[in-house]
Amino acid sequence: MSGGQGTANEQERGLLDLLTLIAEGITELVGFQVAVISVARDDGWLHRLAIAGSEDARLALEGTRTPIDALGEELESADDWGLFKFVPHERTSGDFPFSWIPDLPESDEADAWHPLDLLLAPLLDAEGRLRGTLSIDMPTSGRRPDAAQRQMLEKYAEQTRRAVLTALEREHLAEQLRLAQTARDIVRRASAELDVARLLEVARHALAEGFRAHSVWLEIFARDDVSDGHLFAHGDVADVPRELLDLAERQAREAWVTQRAIPLSRDDVSYLFVPLGAGQECLGSLTLVRAQEVSDWADVECLTALDVGHDLGRAILNARVYEEERRLHAELRTVDAYKSQLIATVAHELKNPLTSVMGNLGLLETIDVVNEAGSRQLAAARRGADRMSQVIDSLLLLSALNRADRVASSERIDLVRLVGEAVELTAVMVDQRRQQIRMELPDHPVHVRGDAAELERVVVNLVSNAIKYSPDHATIVLAVSVGGDRCVVSVADQGIGISPEDQDELFSEFFRSTNPVAHTQPGTGLGLSIVRRIVDRHGGRIRVTSQLGEGSMFRVELPRETSLDQDRHAVA
Ligand code: ADP
Repeated sequence: MSGGQGTANEQERGLLDLLTLIAEGITELVGFQVAVISVARDDGWLHRLAIAGSEDARLALEGTRTPIDALGEELESADDWGLFKFVPHERTSGDFPFSWIPDLPESDEADAWHPLDLLLAPLLDAEGRLRGTLSIDMPTSGRRPDAAQRQMLEKYAEQTRRAVLTALEREHLAEQLRLAQTARDIVRRASAELDVARLLEVARHALAEGFRAHSVWLEIFARDDVSDGHLFAHGDVADVPRELLDLAERQAREAWVTQRAIPLSRDDVSYLFVPLGAGQECLGSLTLVRAQEVSDWADVECLTALDVGHDLGRAILNARVYEEERRLHAELRTVDAYKSQLIATVAHELKNPLTSVMGNLGLLETIDVVNEAGSRQLAAARRGADRMSQVIDSLLLLSALNRADRVASSERIDLVRLVGEAVELTAVMVDQRRQQIRMELPDHPVHVRGDAAELERVVVNLVSNAIKYSPDHATIVLAVSVGGDRCVVSVADQGIGISPEDQDELFSEFFRSTNPVAHTQPGTGLGLSIVRRIVDRHGGRIRVTSQLGEGSMFRVELPRETSLDQDRHAVA
């Protein structure tokens, strides 16, 4: 509940203070020892709210109530004094439980006030409905009011009537606002829900209660060719006539433009048409329906309903964006799967003829049928075929890696050993470039779980790149370190470096740097995407830091096998 409206108890107290003030004024100004203001409630009882004057009367009457029906019967025999009705004691039923019977000495005088005399003003609203009563007792003079006093009483009765009606109206409005805002709070909290059907399920119940509506219809308009509309009904109208829905849509669209909720009464039913929208767009309609006799739509309700329309509109839009994202994501996955399939098929198809080409090249190389120029061409053909074979192998590997998110085999691997062995595979390249590899390895094993061949490939690829993209005589640093339950393999070089834009794309398939220096080296653009895929499959991650012209560092972080994991594996 937002501040400023007060709780139901605070409202009751506010009303009570006001009525007590009025009652006290009457006792003092008109000369009666007791004035009681009662309020008619929906439960069929008149509740005595304000009692002024005599302390005895207050103690006896406070918190008590009288049935509304009994009042009507009692007043049938009353003298009509205008707003006040007077029932002399001889005509009262005697057991009418409306007033307090004061302990007064009886008098023989004709106009003396009798303890059982009843003087009461029913407080009616514009429609003639009883909203409360003002009753007074024990005139200080000890006599029934004379003409002058009755005139004053008439004035105060009218003032009291107006004050009670205003106070009740205020109380009613505050209650309506409280209910509507409670509904809005519920809807707003539910608005984080991205499933529209579930959100509207919560919303329509809260709205029915908060707005005291017997029916709630929520319609999300169809989007041109994108989706069908949705209707969510709540309450006793299971089948909302199309004609009413069309009316609701028209009203909502108009209401969104003017930014207000539109109330409408028709056939004893009150409708409130509320637009659901966000930004310029009206996305749907909310229609609240209640019987006219409940009450008209108060301005505060219309305003709160409009706020609800904004909340729901935003929620619908969020859900739409989310839905769209999910659809695109699914589409991308399909395209991705298709692409992998295509690559795998093409690679397979190329592999067989290439094997034949390479076999025949091998034969030609062994027999002495070509001259010197011919053998240079043969060597060129061999280099081309080897490169093609590498590309095809990389493609086949990538498509195999893409097929499963996790590694198939899970052996226990000492990363320190694996790194040492991987480096040996790059020794020829290092020597050719007269480079050096400096190893910074812990003096104890560092265990990870996974596929040794795949992880070896990661290290070989990173080191090969460092060799390729560094100048001759450069030093490459290869390190293994441990931190908590993670371990890191890093490969650092002082080579050509990678621009920030290229770093973003580095791990995409077929990406080759935009740096022309990098293009002097042979490459497929598949190495790092394979590396990333393998690292992902091992639950790790890869990062690069690089400065163009200064060098690069690739860090592969992997989950380390702790002693706890080892125990678990031993048990399993
Ligand atoms: P390639 O077969 O082209 O080396 P990769 O996927 O291994 O394919 O690398 C992609 C691109 O990233 C390379 O073309 C190169 O431009 C850049 N790159 C990779 N490693 C380094 C490095 N250590 N230093 C500079 N650039 C690098």
